[in-house]
Amino acid sequence: RTVYVNGDYLPENEATVSIFDRGFLFADGIYEVTTVVDGKLIGFDGHIKRLQRSADELKMNIKVDEPEMLEIHRELVKRNNLDQGMIYLQYTRGNPGDRDFAFPPEDTKPTLVMFTQEKKVVGTAVEENGLKVVTLEDLRWGRRDIKTVQLLYPSLAKMEAKARGADDAWMVQDGFVTEGTSNNAYIVKDGTIITRHLSNDILHGITRKSILACAQLLQMKVEERPFTVDEAYAADEAFATSASGFANPIVEIDGKKVGSGKPGEVSAKLRELYIEENMKAAV
Ligand code: PLP
Repeated sequence: RTVYVNGDYLPENEATVSIFDRGFLFADGIYEVTTVVDGKLIGFDGHIKRLQRSADELKMNIKVDEPEMLEIHRELVKRNNLDQGMIYLQYTRGNPGDRDFAFPPEDTKPTLVMFTQEKKVVGTAVEENGLKVVTLEDLRWGRRDIKTVQLLYPSLAKMEAKARGADDAWMVQDGFVTEGTSNNAYIVKDGTIITRHLSNDILHGITRKSILACAQLLQMKVEERPFTVDEAYAADEAFATSASGFANPIVEIDGKKVGSGKPGEVSAKLRELYIEENMKAAV
């Protein structure tokens, strides 16, 4: 694989980052994952705008140059012959040459790394069979709207879900579902789609925004509000959205079947329209 590090395209085994990099020592970094279908980027503009927002919220001295980013993404797709999968992008606050909690001087160069990963995203087994989730307390920090590389709790939650025979965890705060470990969470009840409103409690998913626009095109009713675990148990349907998963059906929550226990119609329709609309707009 060819990867990108601070301006250079290199074979992956020749790419290096300093042990003093703040991404390594403090998880002082932000990231984006853009999905590639037929060699084209899905939702690129949204990911790049969110990247700038994450940088600004953390006072990182980064001015994201969208055309330049697009060029690097395309170059990586080309060099790696990527048809379906994703491109991972990570910026850190760079390498101050020492370990110190205080931020380094403004002129410290941020570190930028990017790499591709092959993954089947269209026509997956999950789309056919759905996912099982378990609910777990949300123990993450309070700024989940910033897409940081601080992903230890979501990793632990994912492992706990797997240990319980499920695929993923839906995290819960004060009785209300926040989101999945790497996706936004939805239920459908009596034809209404319910998903948590945007705040600091969840990531503002790029896929979420597009899926809600699709729901509007399909004239489906949407309520953006927190929902409880009991509401999720009693839902007709449930699903999760993310850049690489699009809209994936959830068929079981804490061992209880959701609705019929089969992937739901609403999520299938949304997924279909999402792919159609986003492939048209892919760059
Ligand atoms: N929520 C969390 C915690 C995530 O990590 C992600 C994606 O990685 C999402 C939601 C979905 O966001 P997007 O649709 O932008 O991929």
